[in-house]
Amino acid sequence: MKVASVLIPLPVPEAFDYVAPEGMTLARGDQVAVPLGPRLIRGVVAEVFETTGSNRRLKSVESRLDDPALPAGVMDFVEWAGRWTLSPPGEMAATALKGLRAPRPRPERRVRRVGDRQPARATPARTGVLEALGERSMAGADLARAAGVSSGVVKGLIDEGVLEIIEIAAEAAFDRPDPDHAPATLNGDQAAAAAALADGVTGGGFRPFLLDGVTGSGKTEAYLEAIARVLRADPAAQILILLPEIALTQALIERITARFGAAPAEWHSGVAPPRRRQVWEAVVAGRCNIVVGARSALFLPFVDLRLIVVDEEHDSSFKQEEGLVYHGRDLAVARARIEKAAVVLASATPSLETLWNAQAGRYGWLKLGARHGVAVMPDIELLDLRQHTPDPQTWLSQPLRLVVGETLARGEQTLLFLNRRGYAPVVLCRVCGHRLTAPDTDSWLVEHRYTGRLVCHLTGFSMARPKLCPSCGAEDSLVSVGPGVERVEEEVRQLFPEARTAVFSSDTAPDAKSARALIQRMTDGEIDILVATQAAAKGHNFPRLTLVGVVDADLGLRGGDLRAAERTYQLLAQATGRAGRADRPGRAILQTWTPEHPVLQALAAGDRDAFVEAEMAEREAAALPPFGRLAAIILSSENAAAVEKVAADLAQAIPNAERLEVYGPADAPLALVRGRRRKRLLVRADRDVNLQAFLRAWLTRVKIPASVRLTVDVDPYSF
Ligand code: ADP
Repeated sequence: MKVASVLIPLPVPEAFDYVAPEGMTLARGDQVAVPLGPRLIRGVVAEVFETTGSNRRLKSVESRLDDPALPAGVMDFVEWAGRWTLSPPGEMAATALKGLRAPRPRPERRVRRVGDRQPARATPARTGVLEALGERSMAGADLARAAGVSSGVVKGLIDEGVLEIIEIAAEAAFDRPDPDHAPATLNGDQAAAAAALADGVTGGGFRPFLLDGVTGSGKTEAYLEAIARVLRADPAAQILILLPEIALTQALIERITARFGAAPAEWHSGVAPPRRRQVWEAVVAGRCNIVVGARSALFLPFVDLRLIVVDEEHDSSFKQEEGLVYHGRDLAVARARIEKAAVVLASATPSLETLWNAQAGRYGWLKLGARHGVAVMPDIELLDLRQHTPDPQTWLSQPLRLVVGETLARGEQTLLFLNRRGYAPVVLCRVCGHRLTAPDTDSWLVEHRYTGRLVCHLTGFSMARPKLCPSCGAEDSLVSVGPGVERVEEEVRQLFPEARTAVFSSDTAPDAKSARALIQRMTDGEIDILVATQAAAKGHNFPRLTLVGVVDADLGLRGGDLRAAERTYQLLAQATGRAGRADRPGRAILQTWTPEHPVLQALAAGDRDAFVEAEMAEREAAALPPFGRLAAIILSSENAAAVEKVAADLAQAIPNAERLEVYGPADAPLALVRGRRRKRLLVRADRDVNLQAFLRAWLTRVKIPASVRLTVDVDPYSF
């Protein structure tokens, strides 16, 4: 008897076995319908094997579906990713099928001639229609417009049988990119990097690279040239480019279209589902060469994937923490390994993990020296707020105001960077000291003036600003403490009433379209002073921007997070890197209370190596990543006692292991979210310990009641 192991989207660690009926040929990757309880459910065949045991009461596969089979590379990838992240492989496989869940776009209706039939009565309007149409097929409305007649004329010809309606399946056509459409002339470093990359791809086998160069050095230019070479060598090659933010995709898509004369496919949550289905089908059929997407594009069914680019590889947005927990950059490297493809991680401020791999020679290290052309790196100055304290209830110091004024007078643009949405991060009562928090979540409510509401940034809960203190009932006692971007903009408008200002955050640019509009206004010089969170700090190119003012350079340095220093360094380097990207030199001013902080010192000196060396030494001393490995186990439930119990049970059941420690249980950093209590256990292990095996052994020892949710986060980004 033949049995098929089928991956189905359920939170279980194994595939389900079904009998493969006589006459149904099944293979790994095939999509099937299988019975589950009273329902039929879509699954993917992981394995087909022969068995003699007839005592097994297995159900049979109902049918093999017509949908394309998942290629071997994706199958290996979802299984590997399931094991690595301790996620159910069936749910991983379901992620790879997501593109199929949408209906196909409706077929397009067009009209065409029926043979050489002539209209009974040939009016000038009718003759005009037939001439405009010729031998082609066209949408009826387009035809009427082309002939300059009303749609009734076209309809009349259809009714008479001179024209007929045909339906054309809306199969997306992706033009083949032309590597020689608009070639670029690269500088020496860029050309060397592109050649090394392209050789890595065409040489075959798994080849990881770090593409390391300051913002504006031409990393994008270099990998586009590498793609051109790959396509010249193999026109069927598929290339995936991952970006951390949807807002960055449009600019890259335009650049790729200009370079190759054909638009790449786009894949992220902002793409309409029917379109995603078209992309999915084009990718699996090999009809699409270049995909630009978010981390979920890693699960697309490429058939000939040769190169993956992870742009801004250090960016924490690559980490997915809801649903399946994984790091897009790490999974990109894994997918490349499985596909025997090349992968290039590009950044001006690479993650310590990636630098560590490059230093050890595991990754090819491609360095771009300076900014391209005449652009130079901005001058970075630290502004000691102890000597230049802003007036009460203002946030910009006198020297910074002065420079903003000068920049404005020269007709150049300023970016004021503050990584805090809204108006004020905290609202408190002057009388009793109460800080307003969300009702079911451990987080302070952030005041938003544009919408007039207090908002929980974790859950989206919001309420009107109350008149009375909710704690002591005092009247008019609530004060807004500290600045967010809206408040800084308020100050800027008072200081420079003639300046055109705007705020750029996920509130003012909640989707790709509005982000694009803001970026365009900035590029067109319609904004003088942009007050922005990290939404605008990444990747964008604003040629007229010459001044970046960092309102609070100390912001990310507080708190004991593992990556606080690394993340702050990256964010501030990115933000200050927006200045002076074209022919005018740039300048960056960082307001700080701690100018002696090593992160800020390294930034001011432009000495990334000094920062990396110091940070590596600290991590090594503590055996933390990249020198050790971490995993977090998060327990959450509306039932606080149940969480406590499971946490205690887990603490009791820790298997013996060497070179590995378990910390906790303790309250998770967010101890209450949407009414759920959260506890955390943290595992640290030496690099050569099989962390996944330990976790699997541990977690099977404890019974988890249905009321408690357990999430495993392997390689957590923050802790
Ligand atoms: P990065 O990706 O490192 O930030 P980009 O590739 O975006 O850098 O290049 C920065 C700017 O310099 C872009 O406007 C780009 O078009 C321009 N540029 C870079 N290299 C070249 C080149 N070789 N020829 C022409 N323009 C270039």
